[in-house]
Amino acid sequence: MVSFETLDQNALRTEVEKLRKEYADLQAKNLKLDLTRGKPSPAQLDLAADLLTLPGEDFRDGNGLDCRNYGGIDGLPELRAIFGELLNVPVEKLVAGNNSSLEMMHDTIVFQMLHGNVDSVRPWSAEPVVKFLCPAPGYDRHFAICEHLGIEMIPVPMRPDGPDMAIVRELVNDPLVKGLWAVPIHSNPTGVTFSEETVRALATMPTGAQDFRIYWDNAYAVHPLTETDAPVYDILAFAEAAGHENRPFIFASTSKITFAGSGVGFFGASAENIAWYKKNLSFSSIGPDKINQLRHLRFFGDADGVRAHMAKHRKILAPKFEAVLNILDNRLSDAKVATWTRPEGGYFISLDVVDGTAKRVVQLAKDAGIALTAAGASFPYGRDRKDRNIRLAPSLPTKDDIEVAMDGVATCVLLAAAEFYAD
Ligand code: PLP
Repeated sequence: MVSFETLDQNALRTEVEKLRKEYADLQAKNLKLDLTRGKPSPAQLDLAADLLTLPGEDFRDGNGLDCRNYGGIDGLPELRAIFGELLNVPVEKLVAGNNSSLEMMHDTIVFQMLHGNVDSVRPWSAEPVVKFLCPAPGYDRHFAICEHLGIEMIPVPMRPDGPDMAIVRELVNDPLVKGLWAVPIHSNPTGVTFSEETVRALATMPTGAQDFRIYWDNAYAVHPLTETDAPVYDILAFAEAAGHENRPFIFASTSKITFAGSGVGFFGASAENIAWYKKNLSFSSIGPDKINQLRHLRFFGDADGVRAHMAKHRKILAPKFEAVLNILDNRLSDAKVATWTRPEGGYFISLDVVDGTAKRVVQLAKDAGIALTAAGASFPYGRDRKDRNIRLAPSLPTKDDIEVAMDGVATCVLLAAAEFYAD
């Protein structure tokens, strides 16, 4: 196959005919495959099966705390020490909570809407408008929180080393820009890991709002697909050295480490922020699920226990990512109708098809029984102005199913591109 851009109209029409036949064969297979959400597969969940029998009869942590009872809003210190090491956050600045870090992100934004943060002069809801910078493509649920709470989202292009800092620096001068979303390691969906320079720039840049916060969602901090862990930069220390110690709000969880539905979430921040968070939280909770924290503590033992566990995930995940990349390489490279990321970690591959065809590709795939994430989902308001980005999530299906699904997706990408050029 040659680049579609070099084909004349006759050749393109022949290509469309050929691909329509291929697509009809695909539809005849009556597939029912799903590449939509980044959920761990049952085999990955099985890796943490021991959690179901932990902590056993011994319900006290190392300090003798009865984990069955109320209290301990900070979470178990021994578990916080393990994740403090992995996330590069001092244990006293890290809270361990319930299962969802997304809930913590949501709640902290609600707290700020209602009361402001420790640096606010008024609640955010009393501002004429609140704006967040949204590196895009990004995580759809971050954007959904903003949309739900009436926060205006400003997309910022992603570059290979993080968000475009020239644009960020310009936009944060606006005092109504109160926040920025960031997934600093193996970003959802681009796989981008922020460089040290980007992390330092974000931590130290001047901002118009004195109560500006970075939502540092380190969901994939220990999730490499290779044998090398990405560096976890100490954003709290960088910010503190620049006099902005309250700027970063750090989040993480064990959702993609143990059980996605019953892991442990973490919140890290300056001492002042942690006190603010616990005060706000104390109205809705008398303490987190410490039995779940204790079973995680016993399961891992220490930070190396987490790393060893993640190596087992990698053995399951890496071949699936490889399968997707092989099919994209083999079927789409020559036609030059798409580009895609080669992530070194995380849960996603980001596919850019011919501008203006992403919606068509997703529809074609749907009509052939292959569910893909809605085109545009990774952009604020679901609006991909170029209509070209599709997020692929290879973790949940089996490798065999991925191969069948991706072969089908490749046919849809080619057909949509050929139709586009032939028009
Ligand atoms: N943050 C990112 C970037 C994610 O991709 C996900 C899940 O896909 C989450 C957060 C969800 O985290 P949790 O399960 O801790 O709520």
